[in-house]
Amino acid sequence: MKVETTDTLRFGETIGDADEPAVEPRSVWQAMARGFLCRCPNCNQGKIFAGYLTSVDACAVCGETFTHHRADDLPPYLTVFIVGHIVVALFMAAEEMVDLSMWAHLAIWVPTTLVLSLVLLRPLKGATIGLQWAIRMGGFGGSESRDP
Ligand SMILES: [Zn+2]
Repeated sequence: MKVETTDTLRFGETIGDADEPAVEPRSVWQAMARGFLCRCPNCNQGKIFAGYLTSVDACAVCGETFTHHRADDLPPYLTVFIVGHIVVALFMAAEEMVDLSMWAHLAIWVPTTLVLSLVLLRPLKGATIGLQWAIRMGGFGGSESRDP
């Protein structure tokens, strides 16, 4: 008795996989770096923001659509995480090295926190959009059916 082995499915493979067109791989780190610099993760030339945090509908250079992104609350979470670690570490270091009044600390660390947050929020949103584009999240994969 002869056993057919050519049509065996491997783990994680579905019957329809062979018929779907192959998609080109996208570099996650490159896309996040391009997004961090507020540039299109696809062509690295077009801008992805029309305002401070408002993303463009599509890249003016390559036409990549950005209406699919779901950055939501991740950029603010990342901003709070990063700025918190920087400011608290600097505050504790300053507290160890120099003797400042509470008003001096407030005058230093409140503006530092505000400026760092405003500077980092936009690039972190760009990096988030780049990440979602690279992993083909939602409509970035070419299919709206993968949207949660
Ligand atoms: Zn582009």
